[in-house]
Amino acid sequence: MNQDNPSQTSNDVEKVTIIGSGPAGWTAAIYAARANLAPVVFEGVAKQDPALVLPGGQLMLTSEVENYPGYSEGVDGPKMMADFKKQAERFGTCIRSEDIEACDFEQRPFVLTTNAAKAIKTHALIIATGATANWIGLENEQRLARIGGGVSACAVCDGALPIFRDQPLVVVGGGDSAMEEASYLTKFASRVYVIHRRDQFRASKIMQSRVLDNPKCKVIWDTVVTDVLGDEKIEGIRLKHVKTNEESTLLCKGMFAAIGHTPATSFLKPGQLEMDDKGYITMPVAHRSFTSVDGVFVAGDVADSVYRQAVTAAGMGCSAAIDAERWLADQNID
Ligand code: NAP
Repeated sequence: MNQDNPSQTSNDVEKVTIIGSGPAGWTAAIYAARANLAPVVFEGVAKQDPALVLPGGQLMLTSEVENYPGYSEGVDGPKMMADFKKQAERFGTCIRSEDIEACDFEQRPFVLTTNAAKAIKTHALIIATGATANWIGLENEQRLARIGGGVSACAVCDGALPIFRDQPLVVVGGGDSAMEEASYLTKFASRVYVIHRRDQFRASKIMQSRVLDNPKCKVIWDTVVTDVLGDEKIEGIRLKHVKTNEESTLLCKGMFAAIGHTPATSFLKPGQLEMDDKGYITMPVAHRSFTSVDGVFVAGDVADSVYRQAVTAAGMGCSAAIDAERWLADQNID
């Protein structure tokens, strides 16, 4: 693995550093490398956080991707990320298997601290650290999600897979995502159960009505999932009514957690970059990857709570690399 970047500017300063190794990060690297910027990608270190977090991001936990253009037969998420990485390497991207733990934007060039010894200096920075899906936190939920056993945190990504066709499916959550995922799944499922821990949804009224008015959907209120059943594939879930404590089993062939996402920004100090009330990095100029700090760009799910797709993240990675390239040219850094 290429750990030293021979194409740095003087004084060991990188031209552009990219944090994150999902579709946004690798696409930014491909574009930046082809623009002769010799980017460095910090791909991160695998960890349990509390759910599994891997270099490559959310797609490392996705068994089959069928909606990314160009893969007509579908592709495993990890294989797709390996392909992206290989393409970035081909054009000279320097890859470091470390985490960025802190950023100093007060200094120019920026100073980044990693979990390894040496600090990094960089003129431009692209943050593409993604967002992790929140999971309920049950052991068998995590295990089945890892092995493609019918547990997922993205119905739009996985819902059309053959294992879910004409089967009873479960969506957990009461926000807009849960409504969207449940109504999407009604295209494939025999029945969609929405399990919500309270007696009213948080989702907007219009999104709620898509579930409440759909005869294929049944809402189970005031209820939490206490266990996921099944060895190779999910066979059902254990439920507990939060008011009566009554327990029951619901047979199903798929479970989709739609209980929110957490943008991966823990390496930033509060106030370092502007964020919205959910912690997503905000982009002050529409359709541009600029952040509140000049020279820091953002791409992918860490700045996108709406689409969260591999293809939209990749598109944002492309934009960030082009914005960074133009910014470096404006600063006369080459
Ligand atoms: P969200 O609004 O934060 O909703 C999360 C839901 O999960 C809530 O109903 C919450 O229950 C439930 N929940 C959280 N932790 C849980 C746990 N441990 N166990 C069981 N349930 C749990 O997240 P979101 O639905 O992903 O939406 C995120 C943002 O994206 C929102 O601003 C949303 O409007 C937006 N969005 C918009 C659209 C659209 O307009 N088409 C689509 C998707 C998302 P409580 O209600 O009890 O807290």
